[in-house]
Amino acid sequence: MKFLLENNLAKIAKWLRFLGQDVKVLNGPITLEALLRNRDRAFITTSRRWERTLKNLGMTYLVVPRECWEAQLCMVLRSFRIKPDLRLNRCAYCGGDLRPVNKEDFKERIPPKAYDTAYDFTYCERCDALFWKGLHYERMVNMLREALERCGSG
Ligand SMILES: [Zn+2]
Repeated sequence: MKFLLENNLAKIAKWLRFLGQDVKVLNGPITLEALLRNRDRAFITTSRRWERTLKNLGMTYLVVPRECWEAQLCMVLRSFRIKPDLRLNRCAYCGGDLRPVNKEDFKERIPPKAYDTAYDFTYCERCDALFWKGLHYERMVNMLREALERCGSG
């Protein structure tokens, strides 16, 4: 499933990308034009205002609660039966594909401590971002697990 997210849902956009989903975030307000351009995507929104339009366009959509990102994420995972496995194959910033790289090739960009202890280095060609697994990765795994437990999806 490919997703289109309202622009105030950037927080869960990041998580959905960590889970390997194809996510696009609107960079402005919701417009008919933007919806038409992304008809093939499931639209995630906090507003019911576009419901009639979405139905008319035959678009798949989901209205999530406005405030709590944990509840938002849980609802998306449950509704679209997404497994909460951190696949980390997509860039958290732009959604581009990540490819595995050798840390030796990026030595000057990696803090020495991460260089020594981190693993699974990946690179996004689209936006020139570099990622790796380390302590922050383990924190993320815990954060996700706790979020899912809190809303009963764990
Ligand atoms: Zn990127």
